[in-house]
Order: sequence, then structure tokens, then C-alpha cells
Amino acid sequence: MSDCIFCRIASGEIPAREAGRTETAMAFHDLNPQAPVHVLVIPTRHVGGANDAVGPDGNVWSVLMGLAIQVAGDLGLADGGYRLVVNQGQNGGQSVGHLHVHLLGGRRMSWPPG
Ligand code: 5GP
Ligand code: ZN
Repeated sequence: MSDCIFCRIASGEIPAREAGRTETAMAFHDLNPQAPVHVLVIPTRHVGGANDAVGPDGNVWSVLMGLAIQVAGDLGLADGGYRLVVNQGQNGGQSVGHLHVHLLGGRRMSWPPG
């Protein structure tokens, strides 16, 4: 998807500060961080969002969550804790139509989220 920002990051066409990678996923620092650590974890192939990550494509979750937890450890967040967030659609606040998990850490998160 040449018009998808995250596909272009995955292909290296748009630069991003990488935080980790597997064969099918990558992690990079958010351009507009909402916490001292704010990393996005994406599948390298295009998946539109959570609604699209079902059926045979459902195993993308284990890859994304596994990489997110690995990056959290690499960045020193494991003991203090962190938050993993997926925004789906308009009410969820999704602004980029390529599935991503937010890894947020380095400060105390509030609850409920806004
Ligand atoms: P969403 O609102 O869809 O859940 O999250 C999209 C996230 O992508 C936002 O936190 C936004 O700051 C981030 N973002 C949007 N464009 C870029 C970009 O070109 N590079 C990086 N590193 N992050 C981006
Ligand atoms: Zn995409």
C-alpha cells in the first residue's frame, strides 16, 4: 500500500527510529510521544486494524504482542510496568489505518484512559 504511512516506514521509504524487529513485524519510536517511551509495533505487511486481524490473520497478535513485550524489556520497562494500547476506528481514536500496538512507559499511566 504505497499511500500507507506505516507501509512506507516498514519498507524503509520513510525513516523511523527503530526499536526492534522480527521477520514479520517492526517496532519504532512514535513521532509525537505521549510518554517518555512511546513505541509503535506494526506488522510489516499491511493490515488495516484490529477488525482486520481475525481468522487466518489472527496470529498477527502473538507476533505484535511478543515484540512489544520484548522491546519493553530492552528499554528497561519490564519491572516498572508499561501499557499496551490498540486504537480501533473512529471511537477508538485510530488515526493511521495500519494495525499498530502502542507501547507506553516511563511514567505512571492514568485510568480510565481519555
Ligand atoms: P493512532 O492514533 O492511529 O492509534 O496512532 C498513530 C500514531 O502514529 C500516533 O501516535 C502518531 O504520533 C504516530 N505517527 C503518525 N505518523 C507517524 C510517522 O510518520 N512516524 C512515526 N514514527 N510515527 C507516526
Ligand atoms: Zn500499511
